[in-house]
Amino acid sequence: LSEKLSAAFKKLKQKGKLGEKDVKTAMREVRLALLEADVNYKVAKQFVDAVTERAVGAAVFESLTPAQQVIKIVHEELISLMGGEVSRLHIPSKPPCVIMMCGLQGSGKTTHSGKLGKLLKSQGHRPLLVACDVYRPAAIKQLQVVGEQAGVPVFEMGQGDPVEIAKKALGHAKDHGNDIVILDTAGRLHIDEALMAELAAIKAAVGPDEILLVIDSMTGQDAVSVAESFNQLLEITGVVLTKLDGDTRGGAALSVKAVTGKPIKFSGTGEKLDDLEPFYPDRMASRILGMGDVLTFIEKAQTQFDEKQQKAMEEKFRKNKFDLEDMLVQLDQMRNMGSLQQIVSMLPGGIGNKLSGADLDDRQMDQVRAIICSMTPEERAKPKLINPSRKRRIAAGSGTRVEDVNRLLKQFETMSKLMKQFSRPGKRRRMMPFM
Ligand code: GDP
Ligand code: MG
Repeated sequence: LSEKLSAAFKKLKQKGKLGEKDVKTAMREVRLALLEADVNYKVAKQFVDAVTERAVGAAVFESLTPAQQVIKIVHEELISLMGGEVSRLHIPSKPPCVIMMCGLQGSGKTTHSGKLGKLLKSQGHRPLLVACDVYRPAAIKQLQVVGEQAGVPVFEMGQGDPVEIAKKALGHAKDHGNDIVILDTAGRLHIDEALMAELAAIKAAVGPDEILLVIDSMTGQDAVSVAESFNQLLEITGVVLTKLDGDTRGGAALSVKAVTGKPIKFSGTGEKLDDLEPFYPDRMASRILGMGDVLTFIEKAQTQFDEKQQKAMEEKFRKNKFDLEDMLVQLDQMRNMGSLQQIVSMLPGGIGNKLSGADLDDRQMDQVRAIICSMTPEERAKPKLINPSRKRRIAAGSGTRVEDVNRLLKQFETMSKLMKQFSRPGKRRRMMPFM
């Protein structure tokens, strides 16, 4: 898709000026490209109409070429089509929270039950995995293996009635202090009435807080009809899009949200249990466009970054004198540029991925700010000084926990290391020091 789009835009670039006819021509190619990437035809049409409407007659910014401007609009519309913001799990305050995983056979339900379990555990929850796929003994075994790898207990009752198992699992969770119950259900190769009836019965029996439809992103056009059927029958609350590490063209992501109205909450990016990420609509849009969103980033960076300050900062990196005080300045500057997730997702070269592993979100940013502000100038300049008793003082002063202080120091270390890599002589840094 990205190749096609680039080709379409190359034509625009050659023209230099943006009129109705240019936009229409480019959009025809965008539409074909989307269809080729297995985007549902209705969705593609809707998309093209929205972009055309915005692009024709839009004031051309001096700083952007017409082609860049169309790219910007296509990019923005792609993001909004995929839900705009990152969508999180809804975990009610009263436990246990029930998450029901459903989807076709092989889509990744069992694997992603384990991934979610591991993630939630790392966030301080006490999840329980439940084997509701009872048709093959191997399926139960698979969940047990996954549970063991994730360090999350598995509840199973052999090949019994899945509805009963789900109910019993809830009781078990209450008795054992599990605040989250993840139901791994059975799938079939195709939508089938018996299976749907079973899933509906489980839903009725336990009233899940989240019904996540697991969709293999490699299934292309089919993803739309699968999503539609499951949503009609079960009223799903979100989607987990798996196998995004493969050679997928992104069409599924584009269509699913538009067709169901339900957000994609997670993306699966590999077979290992750590290969789970929040779904970033902007990152996916960039993937589809194939340009790491560098364009937008340059723009924002240019307007927001004080050049002198940036020079001073670069100097510090070169001399390896970056400290927590500087981190604070950087964070505040980045804050002015948009949400942290937006920014991280725009960093090229996979750095965004490395950092998002630390699960940065904006609330955490405020916490980071509070922690650094509770340090003395000396501590900010020399983080190595921060011993356990200082940590306790800083935690108390910032209303956080010692673990939070530790995490921040670790993040700082990672950040310094990354920056060292990028300020190595001979290797040109890109655009701004943070990267
Ligand atoms: P289920 O039938 O829906 O429970 O699917 P499974 O969880 O058993 O997954 C089916 C296959 O897909 C397994 O071989 C998994 O290792 C693989 N798989 C699941 N998720 C991903 C992913 O995100 N990326 C890759 N590459 N493989 C995955
Ligand atoms: Mg399974």
